[in-house]
Amino acid sequence: MEPNRFSGQVAVVTGGGSGMGAAIALRLAAEGATVVIAGRDSGKLEQTAGQAPEGSTIVARAADVRDEAAVAELIDGTVASYGRLDVLVNCAGVSDVGLFEDLAASTWHDIMAVNASAVFHTAKAAIPHLKRTRGNIVTIGSSNALRNNYGQAAYGAAKSAAESLSASIAIEHAAHGVRSNTVHPGFIFPTGMTGPIADLPGDVLDIYRSHIPMRRTGTPEEIAAVVAFLASSEASYVTGATVTVDGGLNQVMHLPPTATPRPLAPGA
Ligand code: NAP
Repeated sequence: MEPNRFSGQVAVVTGGGSGMGAAIALRLAAEGATVVIAGRDSGKLEQTAGQAPEGSTIVARAADVRDEAAVAELIDGTVASYGRLDVLVNCAGVSDVGLFEDLAASTWHDIMAVNASAVFHTAKAAIPHLKRTRGNIVTIGSSNALRNNYGQAAYGAAKSAAESLSASIAIEHAAHGVRSNTVHPGFIFPTGMTGPIADLPGDVLDIYRSHIPMRRTGTPEEIAAVVAFLASSEASYVTGATVTVDGGLNQVMHLPPTATPRPLAPGA
């Protein structure tokens, strides 16, 4: 039985058609929120909406978060339809892998637009409504904002920008009762972004797992649990925070280990 921390509240989750966004939408709905999910692909959105727990409401709204006008329509339309806005979750994101020398300007701009500028658009539209409800924003960043990886220059820069913007929003709106926090997921599997890794030749997934102190990938539901806490009144004194949810990944020094970690005991 889920707690009912969002009873009577209204939430918007961008990227809610798949992966972590879908898990977050389902979690908030299970805890009583009316949830509007946004993305470009209506089919994916409808599929998530169709999984709404009995008695809850998840509504699909197609919107491209790169488009300022579409975002304003999404947020204002949500308030027009459901009367209020309590929680905004920025979860839409795209990634691309390629070394800096091969990084096209168009790829840079697109990754910045979806992962960083969209947070500006959604927050601009949402804050007047959130001031009325003393609501809050949770932005999904990435461990790439904390540690750089080869071939992910644009993605890391965009997630760092999103984290910084989230913290600036926090300090400027704290006195109005509006909170803003960031969650940095580590390697979360499977989602739309990471699912295809399972099809790569070799044991790529096992290699990823071997770099994570907990020796496993995270689940979308584990991210949703932390987002739901931050978005709830249980986190009433938490703002401007960044929470890593990564099985310890961001604390590892990526040089060859000076000692070999003990293998897990069978059944551990
Ligand atoms: P995902 O399933 O691909 O989710 C990303 C969502 O973003 C999709 O539902 C996609 O929907 C939406 N989106 C992309 N471009 C958009 C646009 N222009 N307008 C509106 N929506 C857009 O992958 P995920 O792994 O769950 O990613 C969720 C978030 O976590 C992202 O911000 C990602 O950067 C971040 N993250 C992921 C990992 C990981 O290991 N999976 C780790 C760290 C951070 P449409 O295609 O329908 O638009």
